[in-house]
Amino acid sequence: MVVSLMIIGLRDGLNLKGTTMSTVINCECGLVIQAQSDDALVEATMKHVEQDHPELVGKIGHEDILNWAEEAS
Ligand SMILES: [Zn+2]
Repeated sequence: MVVSLMIIGLRDGLNLKGTTMSTVINCECGLVIQAQSDDALVEATMKHVEQDHPELVGKIGHEDILNWAEEAS
């Protein structure tokens, strides 16, 4: 399965630090992961990856997850 999530890079233009807005990650499997902080988002995403995308474990890190994050609208 092609993992399109790997090519989504949306860090530029986002202001993820020091805001009260929640952030989301739209996973390529269709799951939307939403959290109130970067740390919570990373933790939730890591758990999802471990469960549903084990082939990505060890290939993605904190930085990658934050790169995928978008502001919740
Ligand atoms: Zn997924």
